[in-house]
Amino acid sequence: METSVQPDKLLEVKNLKKYFPVTKGTFRKVTQQLRAVDDVTFDIFRGETLGLVGESGCGKSTLGRTVLRLYEPTAGKLSYNHQDITNLPMSQLRSLRRSMQIIFQDPYASLNPRMTVGNIIGEALQIHKLFPDKSSREKRVLDLLSLVGLRPEAMQRYPHEFSGGQRQRIGIARALAVEPKFIVCDEPISALDVSIQAQIVNLLQDLQEQLGLTYLFIAHDLMVVKHISTRVAVMYLGNIVEVAPAKALYADPKHPYTQALLSAVPLPDPTRKHQRVMLKGEVPSPINPPQGCKFHPRCPQVMEICRHQAPPLISIGEGRQVACHLYPPKA
Ligand code: SF4
Repeated sequence: METSVQPDKLLEVKNLKKYFPVTKGTFRKVTQQLRAVDDVTFDIFRGETLGLVGESGCGKSTLGRTVLRLYEPTAGKLSYNHQDITNLPMSQLRSLRRSMQIIFQDPYASLNPRMTVGNIIGEALQIHKLFPDKSSREKRVLDLLSLVGLRPEAMQRYPHEFSGGQRQRIGIARALAVEPKFIVCDEPISALDVSIQAQIVNLLQDLQEQLGLTYLFIAHDLMVVKHISTRVAVMYLGNIVEVAPAKALYADPKHPYTQALLSAVPLPDPTRKHQRVMLKGEVPSPINPPQGCKFHPRCPQVMEICRHQAPPLISIGEGRQVACHLYPPKA
């Protein structure tokens, strides 16, 4: 009998919330909560790239930082490698950080301008007590530079001496120094020239293959996400509204928000036509989000139920999930 092998979950996120207090007045009284991540559930399988898309301010970066516990979750559960890490004390979190790293959007802002590249990459090795003697540490730094396509001379130089793309390579080498298994790539190419973006995306793909990495790839460029992702999650105002294998999502988006996002992307073949879905109004504030489905004030297919009942994220088959009252379709 044939048995299907279930993909192994590296990261499990259940009902995760991250709220930030909004304060007012001299005594900084907390008056409201900004719901950046508002009850999010998803998994990331070992070896895959989960793309995370949505307009700016939808909570993507906060979600990326919260799953790494760079931000403390307000509620929910995080499991990494089948271990509950939601409340792991700081001492144990340090060894976990070796396995979970982040690559930032702005490589210049995230690199200390007063340190040489050798010291920037070597610092991570020192913190984690890897390669304790200087010569083996230097050898490791040189190996990492070569891995990301930089010359050995880079070691003695400072971040300002490099182009944006090269600086992002330094950021990637620093993240790889501690041999992580999981990397949150937080808009890693958004600050780069278009001509450089493909090189960095290709580098990330090569490294994934060579080192068996798993990525959460956050971006607002939908075509880049399509190219690099195994599956894609779409976020709107702190919620995940659709998850699907990349090909299926782009060929047949189910959620009205995903349909609107994709309709704004120019088609590579101009003879194929698709209809642009125009969204009404602005993205509402995450401090005071709409009741029911948060997308309802802008949704072209809004129904009465949408105004007062939030749709849960449900499975609709073929590895797809969607949070919309149109699903499952009525017979
Ligand atoms: Fe639109 Fe209603 Fe679906 Fe929300 S639940 S996306 S308002 S149809």
